[in-house]
Amino acid sequence: MIGLEVHVQLNTETKLFCPCSTKQAEPNENVCGVCLGFPGTKPVLNEKAIELALKIAYALELEINKEFMFSRKTYFYPDLAKNFQITQYEIPIAQNGKLRVGDRDIRIRRVHIEEDPARIVRKDDCALMDYNRSGTPLVEIVTEPDLKSPREARLFVQKLQQILQFIYVSDLEKEGNMRIDANISTIRYEDKYDYKGGLKTEKKYGQRVEIKNVSGAKEVEKALGYEALRQKNIQNVKMETRLWNEKTKTTSSAREKEGEADYGYIFEPDLPKFELSDELLNKIKSKLPELPGKKKHRFLKYGLSEELIDTLLTEPELTHYFEYMCETHNEKASAVLLAKYLKKTLNYHNLKLKDVPVDVRQLRRILDLLQQYLISDEIAELIVREMVKDYIDGKRVRTPEKILIDLDYEKPLEDEQLAKIVRIVVSEHKRAVKDYLDGELKSMDYLIGHVMKKTRRGADVKKIRELLKRELD
Ligand code: ADP
Ligand code: MG
Ligand code: ZN
Repeated sequence: MIGLEVHVQLNTETKLFCPCSTKQAEPNENVCGVCLGFPGTKPVLNEKAIELALKIAYALELEINKEFMFSRKTYFYPDLAKNFQITQYEIPIAQNGKLRVGDRDIRIRRVHIEEDPARIVRKDDCALMDYNRSGTPLVEIVTEPDLKSPREARLFVQKLQQILQFIYVSDLEKEGNMRIDANISTIRYEDKYDYKGGLKTEKKYGQRVEIKNVSGAKEVEKALGYEALRQKNIQNVKMETRLWNEKTKTTSSAREKEGEADYGYIFEPDLPKFELSDELLNKIKSKLPELPGKKKHRFLKYGLSEELIDTLLTEPELTHYFEYMCETHNEKASAVLLAKYLKKTLNYHNLKLKDVPVDVRQLRRILDLLQQYLISDEIAELIVREMVKDYIDGKRVRTPEKILIDLDYEKPLEDEQLAKIVRIVVSEHKRAVKDYLDGELKSMDYLIGHVMKKTRRGADVKKIRELLKRELD
């Protein structure tokens, strides 16, 4: 049995209870009396954080508590200078939702808002505190222990990450913006014989172990995989908190698990009870972007392969571009240009589409050129690569036409030269020629492809086909 507690940093401009910026800065620059816990300071709730948490609540189909409040949780560690953490305990902002993974619904127990502690930087024998992070808004998403394997836990986290990305609530590419506590207990089956010698199998629930601060989907799978194996090999699993070590790929004991009583929750007396207006709820609900699951369903109707669609769904921007291009161009061609050529190029440079503002109108131009048989697929990909390269070099991104001229691809080949290449290809691919003559019409495309490759430049496909036919008939 596996249950996850997923902490997600919300992308607000300012912190949860004070006007300090959440932007990158020198250590301990973005701090004030409130987030450092000076006496006499009082927190003021950041409304933007509430709105982002509500977006998550709607996306995960949770019930929203229109009235909620905050509590203080005892936190006697140096990374929170107040010595308590403001969190939600008794009434979270939302509860009882679900997320479908494969063919199973994983229940979400609750989603609550809390403040993040400072970042600890370990250096030699010291632990340095960077309070810039202290007081930034987090949301904690807690599942029921419905997950049945490390693999399923990984799929859950990936699905969750995708949804969070599509509703624009967190910058998940930034390291540390999603941290997961993974809980796991193992069920043991023991064979017992009664006094008559009859066999009875007893189901025994083991104690729960919590693995703290795991950093992403893949690490969750690895940490839980290790822990499942460890628990199988020992008789008595203690209830405890363990730490995952990414380098050694093992967990080690950190402390015996605190009980709820140890946290000594009390109501936060400096914040009022909050009440959400229907107006705000309706606004957020109506503006919620289409979720990836629904998008996928819609794209499947275009007759695209699942692989192409899944690639488009790796970034919300890719899907926005896709829908825009589909308004004027063929769906398949648009998807291939984005998911294959553009995405491949971006991956190669370790970039995201949102960091590279490729003009979608220029991508449409490439599709035009392809449709008019003025360029081959290979050259289309080359143009995309050049466009991204221009961007990386800090140059003005050239138009496809300009790139073709620069690459000297603008002049179509003389008929005579093309005919010569056709003859060479025919002599080099006797097998395909025979297949074609035997009625295997698909071999023609194979031969055209080879001619295209050899020309290394834009050649008219219709003309190649004509020349090939003339050569073979
Ligand atoms: P705490 O707040 O003390 O960490 P909770 O009862 O709130 O404990 O549960 C935290 C997480 O542990 C939840 O995600 C829940 O699904 C998971 N969990 C609870 N019981 C078990 C169990 N027996 N095995 C695995 N996970 C569990
Ligand atoms: Mg916990
Ligand atoms: Zn502050």
